[in-house]
Amino acid sequence: MSSGKLHHNGRSFAESSSGIVGGTRGKTIPLDGMPLMRLVIKNGTVVTAEKTFGADVLVEGETIKEIRPGIAAGSADKVLDAAGMLLLPGGIDAHTHLDMPFGGTTSSDDFETGTRAAAMGGTTSIVDFAIQGRGTRMRDAFDTWRKKAEGKACIDYGLHMIITDLGGAGLEDMDEMVREGVASFKLFMAYPNVLMVDDATIFRALKQTAKNGALVCMHAENGSVIDVIVQQALAEGKTAPVYHALTRPTVAEAEAVHRAIALAEIAGAPVYIVHLSSEDALNQVREARDRGVAAFAETCPQYLLLSIDELKRPGFEGAKYVFTPPLREKENLPKLWDGLKDDNLQVVSTDHCPFCFEDQKKLGINDFTKIPNGGPGIENRLQLLHHHGVNAGKITLNRFVEIVSTAPARIFGIYPKKGTLAPGSDADIVVWDPRAEHVISAKTHHMRVDYSMFEGFKVVGNAREVFSRGELIVDNGKFLGKPGRGSYLKRAARGGAWA
Ligand SMILES: [Zn+2]
Repeated sequence: MSSGKLHHNGRSFAESSSGIVGGTRGKTIPLDGMPLMRLVIKNGTVVTAEKTFGADVLVEGETIKEIRPGIAAGSADKVLDAAGMLLLPGGIDAHTHLDMPFGGTTSSDDFETGTRAAAMGGTTSIVDFAIQGRGTRMRDAFDTWRKKAEGKACIDYGLHMIITDLGGAGLEDMDEMVREGVASFKLFMAYPNVLMVDDATIFRALKQTAKNGALVCMHAENGSVIDVIVQQALAEGKTAPVYHALTRPTVAEAEAVHRAIALAEIAGAPVYIVHLSSEDALNQVREARDRGVAAFAETCPQYLLLSIDELKRPGFEGAKYVFTPPLREKENLPKLWDGLKDDNLQVVSTDHCPFCFEDQKKLGINDFTKIPNGGPGIENRLQLLHHHGVNAGKITLNRFVEIVSTAPARIFGIYPKKGTLAPGSDADIVVWDPRAEHVISAKTHHMRVDYSMFEGFKVVGNAREVFSRGELIVDNGKFLGKPGRGSYLKRAARGGAWA
């Protein structure tokens, strides 16, 4: 049979135009004894974090039933030939900001456009951030973000909770959130007067997770010191985008990483550093891990592939690369790749937080501090890591799968439902064509933003078909999933960071 074509075996079942399992969640539960839809993916090469092997995959309903060579196609409702293809567990992006208010504007992708773009690039789960407003209950933020996603999310999604205030019932709120499946909390050491919290708050949160098994994620930059440097730059008339990077030294990141890890060590809890960007900061994580401290960290494609030079682009173009931590000097890039290889960095997520250049980034045309912080990337993570990591010989295929799927699933409490290909796991499967050539461009991407940070990047390797809980949601560049089909992921406490 020709590759990439789905074949019916003549058995009748309710099928919607949206794909194999017939649309919205719940439909695959057997009704009136009707059998579950059976899909066999033939002749693929299964890649997990541990091994690579030729096998067929049998999917029944939303779940993987069996993985072995020689599964008979005869009993299946549908058969997909994956000869020459890699079968990967769906990507998990543990750091996204969809529909997020920031600096008087809102990130340009909502849960529909953002998760659709994610799926197009082989990501089938995200963990986004709800933000507790100061003086309000975490429940309010949780409900607000669930509403943002409801009816819109095209793939499964979990939520972290950003803590801005632990006064009043804050600690009880943390426990309540854990019961709701919010098994991780993020705190900021940057953005004074907006999101930043003091060390006592961070320490109290860490101590609470030592009891309830959640994981604290830290935005680690010394915001107070950076603020002094920023004010000085503005007073000297330094307003161009590049000063966003020049006012945030790597040592301010390293100091905060060191402090975050020290506070976690005192509290007896693990800690996860988000979007680590520099060698100085990485050294702090390595030193702690070498001592056996439960410190974990992620980086993002932009820190692996782009440098501060992007911020020096003529005109106001540098604003496209304004996010925090900022892009660094080139010397940092190979060090971060080494960190991934050596497992001092465990995860690559995107920190996807898009703002359009024309009507959003330009809010800061006369003052870099007014440029909305964030960049787009949710669609391109697997392509970039596969091409610049695996094809370039920097990481193995198995390590690639671990970094983009298995490790985030473990650390954030959704493994082995997500993050691997195994009997019993959700059938989140990416049929990956390792030879497909693709040029990344804002002209063709699916993110709702008017530029790409990786414009013109040529990559080899791309998702051909993407299944989410057994449903075909991407087929050869065509999106078939329906908004609202994504389910909320209730994540378990005491995930991989506690092991
Ligand atoms: Zn972020």
